[in-house]
Amino acid sequence: MSLQICDLHARIADREILRGISLEIRLGQTHAIMGPNGSGKSTLAKVISGHPDYEVTQGSVLLDGVPLLEREPDERARMGVFLAFQYPCEIPGVSIANFLRAAAQARLPEGESLSVTDFYQKLYREMDALGMQRNFSSRPLNAGFSGGEKKRAEILQMAMLRPRYGILDETDSGLDIDALKVVANGVNRLRGPEVGFLIITHYQRLLDYITPDFVHVMVEGRIVQSGGPELALELERHGYGSLEERYGSSK
Ligand code: ADP
Ligand code: MG
Ligand code: MG
Repeated sequence: MSLQICDLHARIADREILRGISLEIRLGQTHAIMGPNGSGKSTLAKVISGHPDYEVTQGSVLLDGVPLLEREPDERARMGVFLAFQYPCEIPGVSIANFLRAAAQARLPEGESLSVTDFYQKLYREMDALGMQRNFSSRPLNAGFSGGEKKRAEILQMAMLRPRYGILDETDSGLDIDALKVVANGVNRLRGPEVGFLIITHYQRLLDYITPDFVHVMVEGRIVQSGGPELALELERHGYGSLEERYGSSK
């Protein structure tokens, strides 16, 4: 069982951003992708999620053997991939709790429904475990959220939906230490034989709290190096400069 990315090429506005990405995330594994700004990390997450701006020109993504790229974004989510991007940035007037309830309801087989009591019980259990204030769930979704609050909401969504494969994209601007810990705690708590993670990060910092099984470095739309967690530390010491010199072309 795996999320298998095979020779993936994608472009936006006639520019090729992903230039042959191959990566297999098996259930139970946590992979990290690191790389300089602009290397295509977020693009990879968006292409897997089905973002309409990107055109896949070559390659495939298989989820437990089933082709994913032909599916609509919401179908991909039902198949068990979690990506933050499929959610709207801001829905005025809709609270986090209501949004999560609708999302949970949408994933149930037809005819089944989730009682309000059961939902809140589950919600508060997850929030308590994540160390989140319960009143956070009554805030309107993403309205005026800081980067850290967006990440908290995202992690809570993930904890509620329990995807088979979770893909997280840390923003390049970085998170404060508390948000970083919420993200790491959320991922670590869900880690286990039944779930695979792809953690995308510009910095090594997040990986101080989430120890990945594998680390990959992306430069200009390609994975140029793969290794164990020690690779992240090496990059932190030496930076991306020499890798960009070696593998970069155009810039
Ligand atoms: P990363 O997440 O590694 O910083 P991105 O995937 O965000 O990289 O971006 C990869 C490249 O794609 C960058 O050079 C960026 O300028 C370009 N890019 C991203 N989004 C767009 C867009 N909407 N239109 C044109 N180019 C884009
Ligand atoms: Mg960027
Ligand atoms: Mg990015």
